Parts: sequence; C-alpha cells; structure tokens
Amino acid sequence: MPILVMKFGGTSVADLTRIRAAAAKVRAEVARGHDVIVIVSAMAGRTNELVGWVNETSPMYDAREYDAVVSSGENVTAGLMALTLQEMDVPARSWQGWQVPIRTTSAHGAARIEGIDRAAIDAKFTEGFRVAVIAGFQGLSPEGRITTLGRGGSDTTAVAFAAAFEAIRCDIYTDVDGIYTTDPRISARARKLERISFEEMLELASLGAKVLQTRSVELAMRYKVRLRVLSSFEDTDETSGTLVCDEDEIMESKVVSGVAHSRDEAKLTLVTVEDRPGIAAAIFGPLAEAGVNVDMIVQNISEEAQGQDPREVTDMTFSCPTDQVARAQKALEAARDRGEIKYDKLEVDTEVSKVSVVGIGMRSHAGVAARMFAALAADGVNIKVIATSEIKISVLIDRKYMELAVQALHDAFDLDKAG
Ligand code: ASP
Ligand code: MG
Repeated sequence: MPILVMKFGGTSVADLTRIRAAAAKVRAEVARGHDVIVIVSAMAGRTNELVGWVNETSPMYDAREYDAVVSSGENVTAGLMALTLQEMDVPARSWQGWQVPIRTTSAHGAARIEGIDRAAIDAKFTEGFRVAVIAGFQGLSPEGRITTLGRGGSDTTAVAFAAAFEAIRCDIYTDVDGIYTTDPRISARARKLERISFEEMLELASLGAKVLQTRSVELAMRYKVRLRVLSSFEDTDETSGTLVCDEDEIMESKVVSGVAHSRDEAKLTLVTVEDRPGIAAAIFGPLAEAGVNVDMIVQNISEEAQGQDPREVTDMTFSCPTDQVARAQKALEAARDRGEIKYDKLEVDTEVSKVSVVGIGMRSHAGVAARMFAALAADGVNIKVIATSEIKISVLIDRKYMELAVQALHDAFDLDKAG
C-alpha cells in the first residue's frame, strides 16, 4: 500500500481533544487506502517546560541527560496517539526513536539522522497494522544513548521517514494553513502560496519563517520529498495547504515569491582594522569557534583612518543575531588580546532587522535589486548593509522600519496577486 507520512506539531496534539482530531485525520487517510506513518511532537509547551527543568537542575548540564529528559515529551504523545487510533478501530503501534531505531550522530541536542531501520515497521504493516506512530525529535547515538535533533526537529524526523519509506508525500500539520508570501501578522495582504520550491522554502525557513525546521527542508530537497504544510484545525483535503516541491512542478511565474524578515539582528563594525592578507580569517575564525552565526559581511575603506594610511586599514562590518553579540564581542576582544587582530574600536548596533526578497525567478530576471531599493527609498528607509545570493536579496535596516519595509516590498512585487 502507498505510504503517507503525517506529522503533527505541538499545537496539533496540545490536549486529548486535539489528539482525537489529529487521529481522525489519520483514520481518513487510512480509509483512503494509505498505510500511514505518523510523527508526533510533544504537547505544546511541554518541551520548553522540560528544558526549563533541566536548566534549573543543572545550569552546566550534561547534554546526554538533557536529551534523556527533553525527548520524553514526544514519548507521551506517541503512546496517546496510538491508543486514540486503537479506540477508533485503526490498528496502530507506537515507537520511540531507540526502538526503530533511528540512528543518529552523537551530537547531543543537535544530532543528525544517519539511518532509519525499516524492518520492524515494515513487519508490522505486513501483519496488518495500518499506522506506525513515531516519537519525533529523537534518535539513538552509536554509544546507545538517546539523542535529540535540535528544536523543531520533529519536522526532520518526518522528512527522514518519508525518504526512508519512499512515501508519496510528507504532510506537516500545524497551526497555520500554509506558507504565505510574507508574515500575515505584518501585512494583511499576505497571500497563501499554493506551491513553493524547496530552494525558496529553504531561504524562507532560514530567514525566520518559523513554520519548518531548516534542516527538514534541506533533507526534503536532497531526497525530493514532496512536503505539504497544512492546518490541523481545519477540514483539509488533497488540495489544502502549500506544497513544497521541486521547481519543475511550479507554474507561477513571479520573479519574487516572498518577503522574509528577521527581527533581532545586530550589526557590528570593527573600525580601522589593520588590512593585510589573512585578516578576515583572523576575525571570522574566532567568531566561528565561539559559535557566532555570522550572516552578512562587508569590508570597506575606513572612514576613520585619521593619521593612518587608508591603504593599510579597513572597516569590517558583519551581522549576527542579537543574542550572540556578547559572545562575538568576547571572541574579538580575546583575539585582539592575543595580538591576532588590531582594531581601534568595535561599534555595535543592536537595533537592526533584516528584510529579504526571495524568488527563483531572480536567476533569469535582471533589475530585482533596483526595484527593491527604489521601493525602500520611496518610503525613506535607509539601507545599512546589502547581501545577495542567486535567489535572494537581503538588506539590513533600522528595526523601527522593518514592518514598513516588508509592506513596501510586498506591494512593489505585487505579491498580493497570484501570478
Ligand atoms: N518538541 C520539540 C520542540 O519543541 C520538537 C518539535 O516539536 O519539533 O522543539
Ligand atoms: Mg515546529
């Protein structure tokens, strides 16, 4: 029988009533002739509570025990989901990650899935079971310990199962009814997309459209798993939600598909850095080691080269999430103390946001950047840093203009109209 993967996020299994509603959706797919693999998250709020307990017990916790505690939320929902299905006369069995097993690396708290053993689940389907319920977010390390996959990791569990079982599709049930052209809380004109390509979704996921874990989209792209994002709170059918798929399956011909934003960014500038070969490595090496996720980078002629030969100094600007600023500052000061880099001062602006336009159409259309900058200029938004990739243009701007900029760009690229 064709296998369908259905994943239910925390709000979709928040209580027993919600679990029953989710189970009814599973039963409907079984009735349509699918064998179903259900992946469940912990009940809404449960993982945060477990993380809190760990931190309170042991601030410098042992990551193996963190995983032992934090993975438990999913175990509860997996068992409850199997019981609920059984009560509906659907033959179902649950598995925790170690029972499958889902083999992962030993990077506790951020493990990667390396393989899924199909045998036990295949055997149950052959026996006549119609649903396998899997606790998401967890696996088994080579050392035989429980691991977790990083926050939001149940999405990745779902995609990995869809790939391993060659599922016809991986349906991600959540509290929104699809992927939008921009955040509907910012623009009332945001429009739900029928389809979006893996690549665009990857940019949007990593830019802070929090619907899917970035890693799950990477995996879906690599194994060509068709993903569908849809609401567990509504009646849904084959056409509901947004399909994340290969670009060959997409008809829309818009140059830009979406406007993303990332609110809490910081801009750091090393003023009058000694300019020499290897200086970028000397700056960004220690930042990487300190776990700072540097995003945009600009090197330019120093404005403040007073008394110094402007050919020998430069300004280096980069952005990172605001909650990593302290770590970045510490790493740079340490590098300066060790004599690895020289600079006059470090300027920090924590009041910036990043706004980006994303679209595979940019590969074949010129003028997207010009249109974007003109729209921002018309609203008086000053751009501080620009970065581009093949399918994305991002700008760093003052945070107070973020919502205005998102709306202006949504309008400038006519994203409210289907194209
Ligand atoms: N329960 C985990 C979390 O809250 C995993 C997930 O829901 O995807 O991060
Ligand atoms: Mg999630």
